[in-house]
Amino acid sequence: MVTPNKILKSHKLRITDCRLDIIQEFLEKQVALAHSDLEDSLDKKFDRVTIYRTLNTFLENDIIHKVLDDSGATKYALCSHEDDHDHSHEHVHFKCDICGETTCLESISLPQIKLPKGFEKREMNLLVTGICDKCHQ
Ligand SMILES: [Zn+2]
Ligand SMILES: [Zn+2]
Ligand SMILES: [Zn+2]
Repeated sequence: MVTPNKILKSHKLRITDCRLDIIQEFLEKQVALAHSDLEDSLDKKFDRVTIYRTLNTFLENDIIHKVLDDSGATKYALCSHEDDHDHSHEHVHFKCDICGETTCLESISLPQIKLPKGFEKREMNLLVTGICDKCHQ
């Protein structure tokens, strides 16, 4: 099973309360979270700067990745840590119109696109909006 401790250890990061709590939040919620979501759900246990730094450390170490949705706030989602294999961030993200949550659809990779001459790809994002499986009754 994936635990916050294991994730930190596998990335050789020091274990701190803030790091553990933030990973725990991502594991429990299973959706993309913004800085403000974390601040709220951790109930002001850590200050803004600490959360901000922790998120940056996680980004640098590829524990989380940025998720672009149409909410305007930068959101982050936990990378796949089920195994040690290389994982890709080039998967579809799905934003639900009803609950407003954005989820990683890791199993759906992005289509190949051919750019015009002179253009070079750095990053690609694909957001699908609609109704998620939890809201779909
Ligand atoms: Zn990653
Ligand atoms: Zn939903
Ligand atoms: Zn994702």
